[in-house]
Amino acid sequence: MTDFDYCVIGGGFAGLTAALRLKQAGRSVAVLEARDRLGGRTFTEVRADGCWIDRGGAWIGPGQDRIQALMNEFGVRSYRQYTDGEAMMVVDGKQYRYTGTIPWTMSPWASMNLGATFVELGHMCKAIPLEAPWEAPKAGKWDRISLAQWLDRAVWSKPAYELLETAIAGSYTSAASEVSMLFALYQMASGGGPNFVFGVKDGAQDARPVGGMGALYGPMAAELGDSIHLSQPVHRIEQDAAGVTAHADGSTVRAHRAIVAVPLAIAGQIRYDPMLPVDRSFLHQRVPSGSIIKISVLYDEPFWRRDGLSGQSAAPGSPATVTIDGCTDAGRPGVLCVISEGPIARQIGRLDAAERRTAILRELVTRFGEKAGAPVDYVEQDWSTERYSGGGMLSHTPTGVLTQYGHALREPCGRIHWAGTESSAVMCGWVDGAIRSGERAASEVLQHELAAV
Ligand SMILES: Cc1cc2nc3c(=O)[nH]c(=O)nc-3n(C[C@H](O)[C@H](O)[C@H](O)COP(=O)(O)OP(=O)(O)OC[C@H]3O[C@@H](n4cnc5c(N)ncnc54)[C@H](O)[C@@H]3O)c2cc1C
Repeated sequence: MTDFDYCVIGGGFAGLTAALRLKQAGRSVAVLEARDRLGGRTFTEVRADGCWIDRGGAWIGPGQDRIQALMNEFGVRSYRQYTDGEAMMVVDGKQYRYTGTIPWTMSPWASMNLGATFVELGHMCKAIPLEAPWEAPKAGKWDRISLAQWLDRAVWSKPAYELLETAIAGSYTSAASEVSMLFALYQMASGGGPNFVFGVKDGAQDARPVGGMGALYGPMAAELGDSIHLSQPVHRIEQDAAGVTAHADGSTVRAHRAIVAVPLAIAGQIRYDPMLPVDRSFLHQRVPSGSIIKISVLYDEPFWRRDGLSGQSAAPGSPATVTIDGCTDAGRPGVLCVISEGPIARQIGRLDAAERRTAILRELVTRFGEKAGAPVDYVEQDWSTERYSGGGMLSHTPTGVLTQYGHALREPCGRIHWAGTESSAVMCGWVDGAIRSGERAASEVLQHELAAV
């Protein structure tokens, strides 16, 4: 048993940030991380040729001030996402090329419906109080229906429906019928509205850190030094009047307080003694994650750029649901990032690796031509099979949960405090939200110290 001021469970961005701020404040801290690596739902692989690939979270955008501040602190630069050329929508096998956010080249009817729905969603988002979405004037109404039920009522054009379902439910990597409308609005609002969430340029995929997310979590870990303990899955946290005891597979840590910074969907896998208050316990039972497979397909060069394409495409129902240019700032080699998400990701997850690769490349050839069928490498990451993520990209609430249990998202339970992107009122679901939650949890425990003096 080793004694520390604080114990942080989880070495993703939330946990690392909390630990960093506590260490910078002069406190001793132990980070217990289950995996043999840091970064959690971000995971940068640096390849032999120096090219790096983000297997998880990768992009940043305007308004994500906390990740920007951390990047400034560690001298990490960013570069703009490649957006020159046309994007592509594929609906019912037909390809539509377009520029901007709305695919106006589809039927005018579908485009109008899509544009009007975006505007309506923007208005609805404005009615959401970020710190307490369950207090929105129409919270009860919106939490009673799923995103699918709302789309059924609001969208009359079939292609517009499919695109919106892909775009919005895709963010939660689940079927639209699985996600509460209130949650969808809250999550979009926490990012500043639908234009930010679905936009690339000036939106959530505006830029990337040079060197990938690892260029940031690497130096954070270096500053934390021997505070970090890898391969230490915590299975039990006890608390008593004097402190907490975290039991991991390989160690036991005693501290004044614990910050649990694991994905909400799997926070209930830890045993808490005494039991957590009912609302927090039940919240753990009711917040699942969805399925996402992120694939980086490598080519000698980004050939699509020469063909006048940005690399961005969306095809509802396709195994390659979304693609985007994933090149580093060097622009070579060509990296096409493919995202398979939601029910289709689970379907193709059941194929063997060779069949899945064939299915994905076949899709890329129909969109980007024969060259797409001959990559130099192919790297895939299925987040649904990651024990310590429980799926990706973020945990969501089904109907009825946010209004009933939302208040328990951040409320400390005695000496246990909660971090993780899901607990952030701003940029919930993004790395920036994880960082904000880590800073909030660190300041919470320090305030308790002050109050105790
Ligand atoms: C494919 C994909 C693409 C994404 N794209 C983007 C993007 O472009 N931009 C963006 O901003 N965000 C993106 N995200 C979301 C982003 O990655 C997450 O919001 C963020 O990384 C969450 O950080 P976190 O610290 O809250 O949780 P995590 O990163 O999940 O960290 C939790 C940590 O806890 C550890 N852990 C779990 N259980 C235990 C236990 N019992 N004991 C000890 N440790 C434990 C885990 O191993 C993990 O390291 C993406 C996510 C995915 C999966």
